[in-house]
Amino acid sequence: MSDGNDDLWRNFPKTAIEFDRTFATEGDCVAYWMQARWGSEPACARCGGTRVWVERNGRLFECAACGHQTSLTSGTVLEGTRKPFKLWFRAVFEISSRRNGISAKELQRILGFGSYETAWTWLHKIRGSLVRPKREPLGEGVEIDEAFVGGKRLGKSMVLVATETDGRVRLAHALTNDEETLKAFADANLAADAHVTSDGHAGYNATSLGERTHEPIVQTNAERAVSDTLQRAHWSVSMLKRWLIGTHAGAVKARHLQAYLDEFAFRWNRRKTKGVGRISARTIAMLVSHPARTMRAIVDGARPYPLFMPAA
Ligand SMILES: [Zn+2]
Repeated sequence: MSDGNDDLWRNFPKTAIEFDRTFATEGDCVAYWMQARWGSEPACARCGGTRVWVERNGRLFECAACGHQTSLTSGTVLEGTRKPFKLWFRAVFEISSRRNGISAKELQRILGFGSYETAWTWLHKIRGSLVRPKREPLGEGVEIDEAFVGGKRLGKSMVLVATETDGRVRLAHALTNDEETLKAFADANLAADAHVTSDGHAGYNATSLGERTHEPIVQTNAERAVSDTLQRAHWSVSMLKRWLIGTHAGAVKARHLQAYLDEFAFRWNRRKTKGVGRISARTIAMLVSHPARTMRAIVDGARPYPLFMPAA
């Protein structure tokens, strides 16, 4: 999915005042949503017809040609929601406009929800949409490493990290760092011609890294203090730890860790993106283009990395 219609992100509000002006009514949000989803007018999900009758305050429409009913949210992350788009847009704005994101507790306060669980679920729905299915693999010089993140509810969880010279990061919650896991991680995230720097861990080898050129470098602490060969990887992990403690105050459970890693990577990879508007618009584009996950799937959380590795 591209950034979509240029105007959509260029015109997206950048401040709370602009937000209130641009999305003053539910209709403003619906119009934006339709633009993001269909480019202009809604189209019938069955026959593609664009002559439609609008029902239920514009949230449902019936195709004039075939009678099929399509809802504005069907097939998207917001499928089944009864809450106004305006609240969802506000949530996206709050999440996107804050440098470090937002906790469920804070979102609950801002949206005036009675329940913490609702705010928590919304955050997870949005978070779960942040990863594009076909992401460009990391190329050229890549540092790869593993680290542990911990916390009261998190226990001690292993995270695989890969960072690129120009700065993108990929993170995966893993059970182990054996060859097989590292191979799955490398194949999912690193270009076939990447040049890989790692520490001396034996799992980084021709089996896990394949044809990629590989430079294992063993450093003493003293050497690392002078010139750390895995500086980017170490830096991103220390920022990750700070974020988990700072924004989320240790509330993250191990079974939800991957979703937080995805959000962190999304923020990290866009840290140079100018403008809140662009990130908000991109987030809504993600909500439009992803199917909903069930409540059950969200609460149960994604399994640790090796177990849900995509086959492709
Ligand atoms: Zn139709």
